[in-house]
Amino acid sequence: MISVEEAQMIILDSTRPNPPRRVSLKDSLGLVLAEDVIASVDLPPFTSSAMDGYALRGEDTAQASEESPCRLQRVEDLPAGKVARRKITARTCARIMTGGLLPRGAGAVVMLEETESVGDEIKIKRVVSTGENIRYQGEDVRKGKTVLQKGTAIHAQQVALLAALGFSRPLVFPRPSVAFLSTGNELVPVSKKLSPGKIRDSNSDTLEALLREAGANPVRLGIAKDSRASLRKKIRKGLARDLLLVAGGVSAGTHDLVKEILEAEGVKELFWKVRMKPGKPLFFGKKGKTLVFGLPGNPASSFVSFQLFVRPALRKRMGAREALPVFEKARLAQDLTHAPGRVDFIRAVCERNHGAPGIRSSGMQGSHCLSSLAHANALLRLGENVSKRSKGEEVEALIL
Ligand code: AMP
Ligand code: MG
Repeated sequence: MISVEEAQMIILDSTRPNPPRRVSLKDSLGLVLAEDVIASVDLPPFTSSAMDGYALRGEDTAQASEESPCRLQRVEDLPAGKVARRKITARTCARIMTGGLLPRGAGAVVMLEETESVGDEIKIKRVVSTGENIRYQGEDVRKGKTVLQKGTAIHAQQVALLAALGFSRPLVFPRPSVAFLSTGNELVPVSKKLSPGKIRDSNSDTLEALLREAGANPVRLGIAKDSRASLRKKIRKGLARDLLLVAGGVSAGTHDLVKEILEAEGVKELFWKVRMKPGKPLFFGKKGKTLVFGLPGNPASSFVSFQLFVRPALRKRMGAREALPVFEKARLAQDLTHAPGRVDFIRAVCERNHGAPGIRSSGMQGSHCLSSLAHANALLRLGENVSKRSKGEEVEALIL
């Protein structure tokens, strides 16, 4: 059996990013840039007003004061989007709105609130310095500058810049398509009534949710029976995708046929079984570019395996620079015992009470137990070589 870290290395070593593709800006959310973004225009693209006010020549106000205001002639109105017809010359000004293109000759804008007007005569009671309330062309971004680097993840804040620069179709690493299926004669679809001996297929919806959260395109294959024919049919379909996840049927039980079928379909095993709890019976293999995960059937195990192994594979496939989950430090809020020799991932609640986050188990840890999973916001890692951890000690947690 290999360690969690060895398993992660094997997965990342056998995963390459998907070939880049252009997508609409809307669809690029959550994806990673596959090219440097170079500004094709200045931002702002022209010099404009930062306020509603009057565009003027600062020098006209050089002598202005409360007692002897300067008086300027308003020659034009410039709402945003309008181009001035006239140049601002000595003792003239133009009414201008925020974002309005600054007229030629003007060097500053005085706020509306600081002026008085009688007809077309505008009174200004203070000195206005050149540059006041002006947004200069290119002060934010210079044309030709690299503003975002290849490998940057696109969130809403990056969308704003891409949109302003006119990148309507950024080049990104596209979403992997991921087929997934559940296996087991005991499984019934979620919408169906339970009969004795049956349980609902909770893994399909959980995997779909995890895949969507990770930014992948889920392709649901449904429930396969524990029969060669049923498994073969779905597995063949799934092997046409970027990834195939098969939940259940991968331990060493008499009905666990998944490994056998995968191998018969040409999937090369890269590892099977990891020294961890929950989630020991994990299978990983590859056929062509398709990565295949045989996940444990128990829901908590498949959830944890997804976080530690499937998500990193997806992240790498989607071009992320850092694919592995990042564990944070937290203080134990209770004593915990643990069987040495493998790593435990405990479903946990991590709370921040003015200071270092405190962490505790979220309930019963059986790999079939769903309530502790539903109440967890973290996975607490206990290392292979410890048998006991005490309240107050520092541990590592993966925040979900
Ligand atoms: P297996 O890995 O197929 O031996 O399954 C291990 C345990 O997980 C068994 O108790 C199964 O009934 C349960 N299990 C397998 N698949 C699912 C599923 N899709 N939803 C809920 N429980 C499952
Ligand atoms: Mg089974």
